[in-house]
Amino acid sequence: MNDSSGARPVRYVVSACLAGIHSRYNGERKAVNAVLDLIRQGVALPVCPEQLGGLPTPRPPCEIVPGAPGCPARVVNRLGVDQSAEFHCGAQEALRLAQLFGATRAVLKAGSPSCGSGQVYDGTFSGRRVPGDGVLAAVLKAAGIEVLDENDLARELGAGPP
Ligand code: SF4
Repeated sequence: MNDSSGARPVRYVVSACLAGIHSRYNGERKAVNAVLDLIRQGVALPVCPEQLGGLPTPRPPCEIVPGAPGCPARVVNRLGVDQSAEFHCGAQEALRLAQLFGATRAVLKAGSPSCGSGQVYDGTFSGRRVPGDGVLAAVLKAAGIEVLDENDLARELGAGPP
């Protein structure tokens, strides 16, 4: 895909797990072909903000727990450990890489407490989703980077679900 002038291809930052990189909390690999295509074209940079924040793979799943009124949300793993610092540090490192690469768009994994855009799990580990952004998605949006998920990308390409 080219930008509106047609002079320079649009560059993307993408969730590393969508490229099949060993980064998911459960250690499984799940690549999305349309994301692999962007990387093969040289226009997408894979990053995993949770690994960049120092978390291991595999790791206990995390969710965003809303704060009490006036208090910030926290990111907590299933064992009750607060991992907010790792998530915020990793998101800033991922933003730094995205900006170095010149990314103006992102394709991030839906539902993740880091990468989810528009919907995340509600912090109860019950599988319920609520409106909201993951930590990286929010950081990229605040920096002016357009955030899609893998389903948005498939729709743009006129393909079926990834
Ligand atoms: Fe890493 Fe984001 Fe994929 Fe989670 S969803 S494994 S944080 S790239």
